[in-house]
Amino acid sequence: MSTVQIIDQDKTFNQEVLQFIDQTTQATGGVREISLNFHVISVFGSQSSGKSTLLNQLFQTRFDVMDEHSRQQTTKGIWMGHARAVATTSNPAAATGLGYVPNSSHILVMDVEGSDGRERGEDQDFERKAALFALSTSEILIVNIWENQVGLYQGANMGLLKTVFEVNLSLFQSSSHKTLLLFVIRDHVGNTPLENLSNTLTTDLKAIWLQLNKPAGAEGVQLDDLFDLKFHALAHKVLQPEKFVEQVALLGDRLIENNEDYLFKREYSHDLPIDGWTMYAEKCWEQIESNKDLDLPTQQILVARFKCEEIANGAYAEFEKRYVEEFGEVDFLTGVETDSQDETAAGGLAAKMVTLRNAGLEDFDTLASRYHKDVYMEKRSDLAAKIDARLKQVHGSFLVALRQSSLHNFTATFKTRTNEPFLAILAKARAACHDTFVASAALVSLDGLFDSSSELRQLESALDDLAVAERAKEVDSLVNKSIKRITPALKENVTDLLSKPDENVWGGVLVVFQESLSSVTARFATDDGYDFGLGDATSSSELLFQIRRNAWLALNSIVHEFIREDNMVLLLRDIFEESFRYDDEGLPKLWKDAREIDVAYRVAKERAVAVLPVLAVAKLADGTAIVPDIEIEEDDELENFSRLLSSKRVETIKGKFKKQSDAIFFEAKRSIIQSVSQ
Ligand code: GDP
Ligand code: MG
Repeated sequence: MSTVQIIDQDKTFNQEVLQFIDQTTQATGGVREISLNFHVISVFGSQSSGKSTLLNQLFQTRFDVMDEHSRQQTTKGIWMGHARAVATTSNPAAATGLGYVPNSSHILVMDVEGSDGRERGEDQDFERKAALFALSTSEILIVNIWENQVGLYQGANMGLLKTVFEVNLSLFQSSSHKTLLLFVIRDHVGNTPLENLSNTLTTDLKAIWLQLNKPAGAEGVQLDDLFDLKFHALAHKVLQPEKFVEQVALLGDRLIENNEDYLFKREYSHDLPIDGWTMYAEKCWEQIESNKDLDLPTQQILVARFKCEEIANGAYAEFEKRYVEEFGEVDFLTGVETDSQDETAAGGLAAKMVTLRNAGLEDFDTLASRYHKDVYMEKRSDLAAKIDARLKQVHGSFLVALRQSSLHNFTATFKTRTNEPFLAILAKARAACHDTFVASAALVSLDGLFDSSSELRQLESALDDLAVAERAKEVDSLVNKSIKRITPALKENVTDLLSKPDENVWGGVLVVFQESLSSVTARFATDDGYDFGLGDATSSSELLFQIRRNAWLALNSIVHEFIREDNMVLLLRDIFEESFRYDDEGLPKLWKDAREIDVAYRVAKERAVAVLPVLAVAKLADGTAIVPDIEIEEDDELENFSRLLSSKRVETIKGKFKKQSDAIFFEAKRSIIQSVSQ
C-alpha cells in the first residue's frame, strides 16, 4: 500500500492513518522514530489539473492519475502518501544531476481528489472542507493553477481561497501559526516571466483579502500575518517533458534541507509529534465535517493534553512496575532493633527513589517533550506529583522505621553511661537520636522534595517521653543510692543512742538523722532550693522528697527493729544487771545480807523499767512528739511515727523482764544462803 485514503468518499476519517505511516516508515524505525522529524505538504486545485501527476513526479508517490484514454475519474477523498525521495537537480549519481535523493526528514504528502466544484453543487462543500483541512494540517499548501487562469479573478481556485480565508480568519488570528501557500503555475509557456505572474497573483490575493468580511477584532490582520506566498512555474508536461522534469526537480531542490530557499520553515510546523499530528488531523476533520468552528490552537492543545496524558499514564505504569519490583517486599520495620536504618540504608533508598523517579520522568519526556510546552510542563508536574505520592509511601514507612531505630539509639546511649552526669548523658542520647534521624531523613528527602518534619515532631515528643522516663529512673536510683549511703551509719548511731535512753534521747536521734540527711543532700543545695542536675525543678523537689521520705522510713524501721519485744527485754535486763550486779565503780557486788539484795533489786528494776516510757513515745525533752517533716498521706506507715510501744506491749515487756529479773534476784538470794550454810 503506497497511498492511503485519509478521508474517504463518505467523508469519514481513516483510523488507520497512523498505522499506515508506521508501516511505510518501518525501514527507518516507524512512528516512534519519526517523532517530530516530518513535514506535511498538501496540494489543492481544480480537478484534472495535474496535481497527482506533480506529486508523483516530485515525491515518487503513487497517487492515482486520471487515465488519459478512458478519462476515468480517480477515487474521491483526501489521500496520503509518504515521500520515498525528493526530485532534485543535484543527484550525484546522474550526469545531468536529475534524479531522486532520500530526504533526511519524512515528508507526508496529501492529495485532494474532488469532482470539479463548479460542476456539481453538492461537492462544493467537500472542496471547501478539503481545502480547510489541508490548510489547517499542512505546513505547505500547493495551490495548483494553470497559467492561463492567472489574473482571472473568477478562477475556481481563487474563489475557493476567498471562502477559506474568510472562514478561517477568525480562527487563525488567535494563532501565530503561518502556512506557506506555494503557487505552482502549470503549463507555463514562458512568454510571461514568472515574476509577472507572481505579482499578478499577489495583487489578486491582496484584493481578495481586502474584500473579506473580517470578523470583529480581525480587521487589522494582514494576509502576510497568516500566509507566506511562493511561486514556482512548470512547463507543459506533454509538450515539454524534459523541461517539466527539470523544473519539478528544481522545485524538489527547495524541499531539501540546507537549500538556501528551503520551503519547510520552522514556523509552519504544528509542533506535534507524528502520533499527535494524526490525532490533531482527525480532530480538525471532525470539527470541519460537522461545520463547527475550527479553533486550531485549541485543537493542538487538546491533542497535546490527550497525548501527554496517554504518555504520562504509560510512564506511570512503567514506574509502578519498577516500584513494585524494587519495594514490593520491603519492610523497613524488620531489623529496626539492630540499627538497620542508618545512613547507608538511607543513601541506598534515596538512590533507588531518585532512579525510579528520573526513569519515570525520562520515559515521559522522551515522548511528551515535543508537545505544546505548557501542556507538556503541566502534565509533567502532574506525573511528578503522582510519582512522588507513590514514593512518599516508601519514604513514609522508612521514616517510621528510622524514627524507631533512632529512638533505639537513645536507649543504647544511656546503656553506655559510665559516670557522666545525668544532663550530659541525656543531651548526648538526645543528640545521638536526633542526629541519626536528621542525617538519614535529609538523605531520603531528595533535596527537600519529601518532608519529614511531622515525623521529626513525633520523634521529639517520643524523646520527651523517654527523657521523662529516664529522669524518673534517675530519681529512683539517686534515692536508692542516698538511702544506702545513709542507712548503716544512721542505724549504728541511732541504736547506740537508744541503748542508753534518757529524756534527751530523741533529740539526739533527731540530730543524728538530720546530719545523715544533709550528708547526702547538702552539696545539692542552692540559693533557691535543691538542684540535683536533672534539668527539671519538679524532678529535683520530687527527688528531695523521696530521699527524705525514705530516710524517715529507714529511721522508722531502725527504731522498730530496736523496740522489738525481745530486744527490749534484753535492754531492760542489761540495765537491770548493770545496776544490780555492779557497784558505782563498776565492780561486781558481793552480797552481805538479804536486805541489801532487796534494796538493790528495787533500785535496778526501777532504773530498767524507767526506760520504757522514754522509748514508748518518740518525743523531745519538752514533750513534743516527733513528727516526720514531710508530707504524710493518710494510712502512711509514717503516720504514727512517734507512737512506738502501746501500754499493752509495755506490760508484756515488763512481764517478761520481771521473770528474768526475778530469776536473777533469786539466784542472788540463793548464793547468800549457800555461802551462809557453808
Ligand atoms: P489531478 O486530477 O489534478 O490529480 O490530475 P491528474 O494528475 O490526474 O492529471 C489529469 C490529466 O492531466 C492526466 O491526463 C495527465 O496526463 C494530465 N496532465 C498531467 N500533468 C499535466 C501538465 O503539466 N499539463 C497538462 N496539460 N496536462 C497534464
Ligand atoms: Mg489527482
